[in-house]
Amino acid sequence: MDNLLTWLIVGAVLGFFFLRHWRAHKRGEALARAAAERGPMFSDGPKAQHPRINSDSCIGCGACVTVCPEGDVLALVGGKATIINGHKCIGHSLCAEECPVGAITMVMAKPSSGADSPVISEDHETSIENLFIAGELGGLALIKNAVNQGRDSMDVIARRIGELGTTPAETNVLDVVIVGAGPAGISASLRASEHGLKALTLERETVGGTVSKYPRQKLVMTSPVEFPLHGRFSKTSLSKEDLLAFWEKIMQRTDLNIHTGEVVDTVKKEMDGFFRVRTARDEYRSRAVVLALGRAGTPRKLGVKGEELSHVLYRLIEADHYTNNNILVVGGGDSAVEAAMGLAHQPGNKVTLSYRKGEFSRLKDRNTKRIEEQMRSGAVEVLFNSVPTEFRVGSLSIEVGGQIRELPNDFVWIFAGGIPPSDFLKAAGIAFGSDGSADHREAHGTSS
Ligand SMILES: Cc1cc2nc3c(=O)[nH]c(=O)nc-3n(C[C@H](O)[C@H](O)[C@H](O)COP(=O)(O)OP(=O)(O)OC[C@H]3O[C@@H](n4cnc5c(N)ncnc54)[C@H](O)[C@@H]3O)c2cc1C
Repeated sequence: MDNLLTWLIVGAVLGFFFLRHWRAHKRGEALARAAAERGPMFSDGPKAQHPRINSDSCIGCGACVTVCPEGDVLALVGGKATIINGHKCIGHSLCAEECPVGAITMVMAKPSSGADSPVISEDHETSIENLFIAGELGGLALIKNAVNQGRDSMDVIARRIGELGTTPAETNVLDVVIVGAGPAGISASLRASEHGLKALTLERETVGGTVSKYPRQKLVMTSPVEFPLHGRFSKTSLSKEDLLAFWEKIMQRTDLNIHTGEVVDTVKKEMDGFFRVRTARDEYRSRAVVLALGRAGTPRKLGVKGEELSHVLYRLIEADHYTNNNILVVGGGDSAVEAAMGLAHQPGNKVTLSYRKGEFSRLKDRNTKRIEEQMRSGAVEVLFNSVPTEFRVGSLSIEVGGQIRELPNDFVWIFAGGIPPSDFLKAAGIAFGSDGSADHREAHGTSS
């Protein structure tokens, strides 16, 4: 009798936990299905690199779902990993690395959705021989990918120059010109030095690229990466300042030839097979070129009256320099929301966020949660369905749901994205996505 009672109690306890787990699983799956249905309403699907899941091999362990730093790109639906928010994927590739049965490969988006992306081979070469693209300009975000591609493209250049074995008759012809000194350009420059190439790096601003524009003390997340002239860099989480200091240090150790503050206007391949790289200051000839321009391009403008005024800004680096101000932030992406929250955190600021749509749809999960909290607490006032119509010194006009409102204003930040440097690439003669890139080609640049 005692035994039976014991078994009944054990059964009831097990049954309770099983039922709880089953209910949670069903709830999770219902949420995932709802998210999968919502996904296409907000985007046309993955924009660049994203996972391709072989559902025959997938065992539904969910490792890929939990490892993704972007939140809800993947979910388990019907016991299989499924892409539910492909547009949120920025190519970390951790899902593919974590999958115990190798059911995930990283692929590029269809050329139709990447029609504004240049055609690039596995070796990161464009449609023009010896003209390479490395880093985010090629469509893949993340520091790790930029570093890998900068390094790998320089290996190809060094091999080709080694095979040619001759130096050009013209002594002023460089082996390679690298345009841009962000993570991709720095990595390419270091590798060029490691290979003993005659290289020149041209950077329009300062060394560091987009990283130097991150907000102060931003935590930079990266995967372990092999850095030329340094070896394996295995710190995966560090501040922006630490990363920039690390780059400064390794760059001082070498005889790098970097010109900062020099904008490259054009790159053209000439009849003799050499490239002519023109800047406002000078022009250079080289046997190969690596374009590591990033995708930030030029900030997109709204075309609103008064936008040229000096208090209308497009980049926020030090939020704590702004206190006791009336501030308008324009945009509905992560940059706009992060800037609004950062500014609202400073004493005395009154921050309004203007977004032309009726709700946020493409935010990282943690930003969605944080902005909802700030809206509830009143720290940030969000005006959905609104567009600014005029900026003035001290005030602005904004249309909200068809009504014009006047707001006191000291600063405006506009985060409407950037115009990618496609004109620059087209002028160089580089073919773009729909001009003939391979269909759904395998993604590259994720090798360690
Ligand atoms: C807010 C924010 C946060 C991010 N956080 C992370 C993170 O935590 N982890 C992560 O891995 N990634 C992160 N990223 C992405 C990462 O910063 C980029 O993927 C990476 O910087 C791309 O490197 P890149 O060298 O290709 O381009 P960039 O870093 O953009 O560098 C390009 C360089 O080219 C220069 N340039 C452009 N045009 C010219 C020209 N005509 N002549 C001369 N120079 C030119 C630019 O001035 C710039 O210095 C973040 C991005 C943003 C915007």
